Amino acid sequence: MHTKNYSHTGIMNFIALFLWILAMAPLPANAAAPQVRTQGQGFYRMTLGDFEITTLLDGTHPFPIDKVMIEVSKEEIARDLSRDGLTAPVQGSINAFLINTGPKLILIDTGAGTLYGDCCGHLLANLRAAGYQPEQVDEVYLTHLHKDHVGGIFLDGKMAFPNAVLRVSATDADYWLTPANKATAPEFLSTFFDSAIVSVAPYIKAGRFKTFSANEQLIPGITSMATPGHTPGHTSFLVESQSNALLVWGDIIHVAPIQLQNPKASVEYDNNPLSAQRYRRELLDLAAKKHYIVGAAHIAFPGLGRIRKNKHTYDWIPVNYEGAPGK
Ligand SMILES: [Zn+2]
Ligand SMILES: [Zn+2]
Repeated sequence: MHTKNYSHTGIMNFIALFLWILAMAPLPANAAAPQVRTQGQGFYRMTLGDFEITTLLDGTHPFPIDKVMIEVSKEEIARDLSRDGLTAPVQGSINAFLINTGPKLILIDTGAGTLYGDCCGHLLANLRAAGYQPEQVDEVYLTHLHKDHVGGIFLDGKMAFPNAVLRVSATDADYWLTPANKATAPEFLSTFFDSAIVSVAPYIKAGRFKTFSANEQLIPGITSMATPGHTPGHTSFLVESQSNALLVWGDIIHVAPIQLQNPKASVEYDNNPLSAQRYRRELLDLAAKKHYIVGAAHIAFPGLGRIRKNKHTYDWIPVNYEGAPGK
């Protein structure tokens, strides 16, 4: 009995020593958490009176500011970017705007689709993630026929929005869908003509292509506003419900940190830089004066904000985030 007790104590001591050694040993390190490097799904919702607005992100791409900005000095560009902690090239968002008026579902712009490579073409996935189907879209309005606005309209040679009517400014349609205009356009725009023609072809074939004129009410609550310069028929859209207004302005601004400081700064893609400058200034002043919410194709996703006018410059004030808008 005595021997047994002694032996039991020995075992207990051994266990205690073992536990002590375990406790003193360094814990095995957790495996390093791999960085994820993706974003959430690219849609953002807000309400505008009776309308529901959903921004859809098509993707972001490195915008080669050094190469494409004109009418602004390299020093000014460097100063503007450094003020905002940016360096060239700056990632540019490609945003489109889905408007549910109640009776109608309207999409303004469609992203680049397959025309810009892997960066982009996420609009359809984001539309589905936002709770809609491409078949539900009644009408698609384009601000202009550049690749990053028209490219998402087709998929594998077919209509990406099979029940939609496609509406484009008559002036832009005349310009981009006439191959002869390639001859007078800069060389780097040559593929833009081809892309526009290929993109809209399925809608023309199906009898679902319809032009609009300047300043036309397209449906109750959405009016076209001719803002030419970036392209001959560049169009902005004023979306109004109750006493609320959203100005979907297309490519009025490409790089906010530069062009809000100096609206003369243009891009080499501008078909008529003087007219582009004029309408940039006019729309900035209009948005500031009327306190419109602006829907911007290329300002950082979701591209929704207001414009504040200073003496000679403008500020972009992003909309305030709402977790469950209108609920
Ligand atoms: Zn453009
Ligand atoms: Zn664009």
